[in-house]
Parts: sequence; structure tokens; C-alpha cells
Amino acid sequence: MTLRITDAIISRVVQEVLAELRQGSAPTPVAASAPPSANGQVRPGRWGVFERVDDAVAAASEAQKRFARLGPTGWAKAVQCIRRICIDQAEPLGREEYEETKIGRLDHKIEKLIVAGERTPGVEWLLTHAYSGADGVALVEYAPFGVIGAITPVTHSLPTLASNAISMLAAGNAVVFNPHPAGAGVARHGVQLFNQAIEQAIGIDNLLTLVAEPTLETAQAIFEHRDIQLLCVTGGAAVARAALRSPKRAIVAGPGNPPVVVDETADLANAARSIIRGAAYDNNLLCIGEKEVFAVASIFDELLEEMEKAGAIRLDTKQIEALTQVAFTTNQDKSRYVLNKDLVGKDPEVLAAKAGFQLPRKTELLFGETPPDHPFVLEEQMMPFVPFVRCRDFYEAVEHAKRAEHGFRHTAIIHSRNVEAITYMARELNTTLFIANGPCVAGLGIGGEGYLSYSIATPTGEGVTTPLTFTRQRRLTMTGSLRII
Ligand code: NAD
Repeated sequence: MTLRITDAIISRVVQEVLAELRQGSAPTPVAASAPPSANGQVRPGRWGVFERVDDAVAAASEAQKRFARLGPTGWAKAVQCIRRICIDQAEPLGREEYEETKIGRLDHKIEKLIVAGERTPGVEWLLTHAYSGADGVALVEYAPFGVIGAITPVTHSLPTLASNAISMLAAGNAVVFNPHPAGAGVARHGVQLFNQAIEQAIGIDNLLTLVAEPTLETAQAIFEHRDIQLLCVTGGAAVARAALRSPKRAIVAGPGNPPVVVDETADLANAARSIIRGAAYDNNLLCIGEKEVFAVASIFDELLEEMEKAGAIRLDTKQIEALTQVAFTTNQDKSRYVLNKDLVGKDPEVLAAKAGFQLPRKTELLFGETPPDHPFVLEEQMMPFVPFVRCRDFYEAVEHAKRAEHGFRHTAIIHSRNVEAITYMARELNTTLFIANGPCVAGLGIGGEGYLSYSIATPTGEGVTTPLTFTRQRRLTMTGSLRII
């Protein structure tokens, strides 16, 4: 008899095991969703979910040793399983993430999974480099690190996990994840589905593991674990700092606050459409999303009109003030703003309702004029409201943009037809991603050239991560022979 494992069964077993874990009665390692074995008991440690970090790391280490021996052909099969699930099950998994995290937009949660599956680079990136000359040949090959510890954000829990998994497995590694607690349910489910499919395809389970209930302590345990060879950390300033303090090599995809500059030569209708496309994406949760606009005075009013024509709703000064009151508080000594996380990634109607006013119609994005030192300009606010700052000229706009970007070196955007201006701003901002005349997502290959990853390594400089990011370079040298010319 064949047993059909449905999502409902998986989900029920997960709930039961988690309930047991909470009561402290379950053994370790623990299987969160394993199919019953012949005697009807849950087999331990299957499909990636464990109670303790040590068990998750041990299982991933074991799996990686076998995986490494398969080489790129086997690695490609595992990657293909993840791609297929991201694409085929984008709708239910996107919905699950949306319902769990309660932030962002359902349509974009689904799209983010599809593009993770379609556009994250795979094993084709692992090209051997060869040098050949009178002294013989040398090969530079890209080898796995081993087990990677990956920390993922709530803003794209499963998309980041899936995209990381594709890049890291494509390079022959295994991964232990520590997802954000608020997006841990969908991360667990994704890991189970991926492992199940990979086991069917290549006979290896637990290439991707996590702890059932991730916390800051489990993240710290991963940072310090001796069997983890490399870290990849995607998140805000606190976790970026924690990773940079870790004794291990860390690839850090840190926070951003991407500014947009619009000059007098720009195609204003395209600029407005692009700003809405990028800033409204998943209610402005993207770290690359347009967070504030600096436009030169001579086209400022016209740009605002184009924003309205393209469907965004303009807030007046009183409405912006009311929204600011609910979106930010200050710390004890009033030296800095503190973001109200309850409004992060919420729909425009929710922001308006919290601020005490109603919107005249449905919209993707709110915007309005603010001074350059406004909290909505200076803080990474991740809400579908974008402040527009009127600037004397292009150079003032670039100065304000630099200040708002805080030296994160993450992302900046320009709308201009002046090549000199584009070059000047790209040099001044010195960011990892710089996009001209399109929405931010073009910088990740959506409506622009290039490839995608949800971990853009900013302070540590690896850029948009690829399988190569997660490899060690090894060189073989043969002296005197094998050059055949
Ligand atoms: P977050 O910093 O609150 O959490 C990110 C992850 O780090 C979570 O798994 C969290 O549990 C963990 N974490 C937080 N503080 C920690 C600490 N002190 N020690 C160990 N682990 C810790 O961020 P978030 O709200 O989930 O995501 C949004 C942030 O992530 C934004 O700042 C955004 O710019 C950034 N981000 C960056 C990229 C990138 O590619 N550079 C991609 C996505 C998100």
C-alpha cells in the first residue's frame, strides 16, 4: 500500500510534535513531519526539523559529506527540486507566509517565490578556471565550504530561505537555517517539502535543516558552532553587527534605506511609475525598495502630479504629521526615532486608519512632501508611504541622498537622462546596487538585466550572492605537462 503524504498530514504532524516540544516531552532529535515508519512511530530527524541546534548541525554535516561526493550533477538535481516547489507551490506557500507574518502583499509573496525559483543562479556558475603555459597547467576549482549557517528575515522568510538554499546547495554545501521567529512556520514547511523532494531525487535527507523554534539564542549557537564553516546573515542592523562580531567568516546582507534622485532631465511619467512599482512592492518591505525621493525644484510639482496620475495618493501636511505620530516614537533620551513595527509592511488603508483618516479610494502607495530631516526620510521605515523632498538642484539632491543612505552602501536609484549626472551620483553614493531609470527590482533582474538573490551582501562586499559566494577556491597545479599545444 502506498501512503500519500498530503500537506494536511504534514501540517498536523508538525503541530503535534511542536505541542509535544513545548511540553518538553519529546525526545531529541525530533522529526517534525516525518512519515510514520513501519511500526507507526515517527522516525527521528527527518526532513530537516530538529529541536536543538547541535542536532540540526550534526544532521546537515552528515548529509553534506554524502552530497559532496555526488558532484555538480547531483547538486543540480537537489537545486531543481527547490526550484520546482517554489514555482509549482508558490500560491499556497505564498499564502501561508502572508497569513503567518501578516505583512506585505499576497500577490508579491507569491511572485517572490516564483522568481526565487526561476532566477537564482545554479551550478552553471561553478566554471573551473584554467591557466595553461610553458610551465604546465593550473586549475582553479570552486569547492563547497561544508555546512553554512544562514539567518533569514521575516520580510521574505521562505523566499530568502529558498534562494539561499539554491545558491548554497548548487555549490555543494548543506545549510542550517535560523529563520525569524515570526516567519518560522512557513520556513519549517518549506524545509520539509524541499528535503522530502531532494531525498526522493538523490536519496539524501537533511541537506537543509533548522530548529523548530528559532530564537536569538539559537542564532547565537549557530554563530558559535564549531561544525559550521561559514555564515550568511540577512537582516537589519542588530543581526548584521552580531554576525560581524562572530569569530567565523560571515557574509552579511545588511539593512538599507534606498534614496531616489529625480533630476530635471528625467522622464517623469516613467519615474513615477517606477517609484510606485518599487516602493509598493510587498508594501515596501524590500531592502532595495524606494524609501525616499529627492527631486529638483524645477520638476518637483510635475513629478507629484505624475505620481497621482499613476495611481498613488498624495497626503497633505496634516495627514503626514498624523501618520508620523503613529509610525514612530523616540527612545528615552529622545536622541533617535524608534519605528512602530506594527505598521511595517501594512496596506495603505491600514496606515491611514491608524493615523485617523480615510483614503478616498484604493491605492498601492501613499506619498507626500516632507523636509529632508523627516523620520520617514532618515529611517528604514518599510511602509507604503514615500516622502518626497524638494531640492534646490541636483547636487543638493545627491547630498541629501547620501545622508539618508547612512553609508550602508546598499541601494540607490536615479531618474535622469544625463549620463554625467548618473555617473556622478553612482560614484558619490558608492552603493552595491545602483539603478537608473527603472524600479528597484530591475536591479535584481526583474525588468532589468542580471540575476537574483534575496541576500545582497553589503557591509562585507560580496554583492548579490551567487553559488560562487559560497565556495572555497582551490588550485591544482601540474608542472611541466598537460599543456597540449
Ligand atoms: P531583523 O534584523 O529583525 O531579523 C533578521 C534575522 O536576524 C531574524 O532571523 C532575527 O531573528 C535575527 N536577529 C535579529 N537580531 C539578532 C541578534 N542580535 N542576534 C542574532 N540574530 C538576530 O530584520 P527583519 O525585520 O527580519 O528584516 C528586515 C531587515 O533586513 C531590514 O533592515 C532589511 O533592510 C534587511 N534585509 C536585508 C537584505 C539584504 O539582502 N541586504 C535582504 C532582506 C532584508
